Parts: sequence; structure tokens; C-alpha cells
Amino acid sequence: MRSATRNPIDEVRNVVMDLEMQNYWMPFTANRSFKTAPRLITSAAGVHLIDPDGRRILDGSSGLFCVPAGHCRPEIAKAVSEQLRKLDYTSPFQFSHPGGFRLAEKIASLTPPGLDRIFFANSGSESVDTAMKMALAYHRANGQPSRQRFVSRELAYHGVNFGGLSCGGMVKNREGFGTLLPGVVHMRHTQSQKGTFTRGQADAGHDLADDLQRAVDLHGAESIAAVIVEPVVGSVGILVPPKGYLQRLRQIASQHGILLIFDEVITGFGRTGNRFAAQTFDVQPDLITMAKALTNGAMPMGAVAAGTHIYDTIASAAPENGIEFFHGYTYSAHPVATAAALATIEIFETDGLFEQAADLIGPFQEAVYSLQELPLVTDIRSFGLLAGIDLATAERFGQRGFAALRKLFEAGLMVRVTNDTIILAPPFVMTPTQIEQMVSIVKDVVTRL
Ligand code: PMP
Repeated sequence: MRSATRNPIDEVRNVVMDLEMQNYWMPFTANRSFKTAPRLITSAAGVHLIDPDGRRILDGSSGLFCVPAGHCRPEIAKAVSEQLRKLDYTSPFQFSHPGGFRLAEKIASLTPPGLDRIFFANSGSESVDTAMKMALAYHRANGQPSRQRFVSRELAYHGVNFGGLSCGGMVKNREGFGTLLPGVVHMRHTQSQKGTFTRGQADAGHDLADDLQRAVDLHGAESIAAVIVEPVVGSVGILVPPKGYLQRLRQIASQHGILLIFDEVITGFGRTGNRFAAQTFDVQPDLITMAKALTNGAMPMGAVAAGTHIYDTIASAAPENGIEFFHGYTYSAHPVATAAALATIEIFETDGLFEQAADLIGPFQEAVYSLQELPLVTDIRSFGLLAGIDLATAERFGQRGFAALRKLFEAGLMVRVTNDTIILAPPFVMTPTQIEQMVSIVKDVVTRL
């Protein structure tokens, strides 16, 4: 009899009330204060997240930039569940399963021609460290083992493992973890002017890429393995490369035998209006890292697309029938993650999601730039389906980002914040009306902050 009156929302709420919250050490979270005002999500559907009270929250950041096709896609659930029943795991070392080859072929059909060898990892951070090790292995195989330095940028985010962290340029992420990897040189970031409300790429600033030349002049090209950049900087609040900047970086790198790594963990899979940002900017890197949208966020997976020349050079230096690259993860090309990724790419293709994303950019940016009229908004930067909205720092209270995050969540919108910046990165399946709704929530909340 009781089951007939059971309210599913009450059930979820009761389970949540039972949580002790003593054991889970949450990442990038103020753990001590979390339990005083826990923000919990218990389910999701389409462009909405659902909290224990059954409240629907619009997902304005696609999770962490990783759910372009919308939440809980039945196609992915089906593929994952079938795979779990058929083959849950097999070692990726010396053995494989057909899905790994199929997925690599699929990814290679999306990356720019020439970036055809796909290596699998389980996250963006692992993909970055893998790409860095590939760069080192390439130069060693090419008879230039002295090339061990990496050049990256201030304000960059390349994950939290030691390679990517060393290249990263977000101060809070780095401080407290010692000297990190030696031999990393940071170029200046590209946000030379604030408050310009530039839409898309700035006309000026491409010469900031000459910092790579300065690194060469100072340290010698023969010491530099690779330069790594996010084509559009994501986590720090959307920094768009000035026109010609990435081209100039490519030119200097090629001139000095330095590899160019594009970290496309955010920009990969349609976010800038093409499959990869390399295509949007028409710049060919030697290595591309990817993760997040690769499985629509449903399974942890990352990958590196390596230029044919990278693979061929490393392979030709290895003894015949010997292992070429002494690197890999227990879960590289995990069968279940592979199934999720194959299902995701199929959704992209059958639903025309790459095209849908490109079509949504106009309405998205139109809506986002209407926030310019708010007195608290000091700058807006947008490219593709990414936007960073800067708020004026409050004199008495310091940074407003987290206050905005909490208030937006209460008002029914999930965003990502960093310092004083609100980041929007909607799923590609948001309708223009939902985009309007998202921006109007931001408008209301920011007006009242
Ligand atoms: N590189 C970039 C550009 C990223 O944005 C991120 C994650 N935001 C990473 C690497 C790290 O990815 P993960 O959190 O999956 O390790």
C-alpha cells in the first residue's frame, strides 16, 4: 500500500538528508563549508539538471563543457549498457578490442587531415601529459634529445597532472605544489586590454606570439620540444586569440623545429563552430588533445591526435617489432568509454550537431552581448559557443564570482565561474528560446547582485 503513495522526490530528498558528508574529499571545492549549504544534483535530462527537490536547473555550462548533446542520451545509455554486458574490460597493452580501432578511425575522420594517429587516455589532464611525452619521444627519435623544454602561457589551464600543471598559468592551481617540471617557459597571455567588449577575435595583438621567438632567443631552439596553447582559453574566462596570433605561433614553431600542441579539451567537438578549433582558425598543430565532449561527458575519456610524422618518427626509431612508445593507461581505450564515444559521435553525425552548434553561435552571441548594458558587467569575451562575462570586483566583499554562482543556481541556472567571471558554454541542443532564458536569468541575478 505504501508504495502507491511514494513520492520519488521525497525519496531522493530523504536519501540526501542521510548523507554524513564526512568522507568524500571534493575536488576544487571548499569542503568545510559545503555541508552547510550543499548543492546536489540527483538527475538530469536534456539541457536541465535536477536537484533533490525536483527543481529543474538550466545547464548553461554543459556540465564542465562536456555535454554538448544534452544529458542522459538514451543512445549512449544503450551503447554503454550493451558494452558492459558484452566486454567490460580487456588489457589495452598488447591486446585490444575492435571498438578502439573503430573509434580511432572515427576521430581521425574529424581531426584535420594528417592528424591521424589516436592515443587514448581517460581525461584532459592525462591527454596533455601524453602529448607532452609524445613531443619528447619525437625529438629523441629524431636525434634531438636536448629538446626538453616546453613553452606555454600565463593564464593557461592544461589540467592538474604534473606536466599540464607545469605548463598551466593559473596561479592558485600552481602555488603550493613546489617547483613543478623544470624548463617550462611562459609566454604572456593574450588579454592585453580589458573592457573592450570585443566580439570574436581582436584585430591587434598577434605580435604577442613573438614571445615564442623570445624564448628561442633566450634558451635556444635546440632546447625546446613544444609550445602548448588552448586555441581559445577556457577555464580562466574565455580568452580569444587575436587575429593572426595562432598563425604566427605556428610559423615561429615551424621555423625552429618546435612542435605545436593545441589543447582542445574544451574547443574540440564543435564548440567553435567546426569539429576542432584547428579547423576554425585554419592552423595545423602537430598534436591535438581532447576529452570532455568526446563521450558527451558520460564516461571519462581523453585522447591525443598525433600527426602522422610524429608517429612515424617515433615508430621508425624503435627496434623492429618493438614497443614504440613506453606509455599508456590501464584504461586506455576502455571498452565502455569507447562505446560511449562511438555513440556520441554517431549522435553528432545523425543529429547534425556540428552544424547545429555553428547555427546557434549567432543567437548565443547576440543574447550574451545584450548583457553589456548592465553596470556591473565590465567586459564580455565570446567565441563560438563560449562566453566569459566579467563582473566588477566588489570593494567590500572581494570577488563576486562565487556569489554569482550561488545566486544563479538558486535562480535555476548552472554556470561555471572563475574569479569574477561567469562562463557560459551551452549544450548545442539548447534552443534559441532557452538561450534567451539563460541570458535573462543572468541579467536578473547580476542586476540584483
Ligand atoms: N585542458 C584544458 C584546456 C581543459 O579545459 C581541461 C579541463 N577543464 C583540462 C585540460 C583537464 O581536463 P580534465 O579535468 O579532464 O583532466
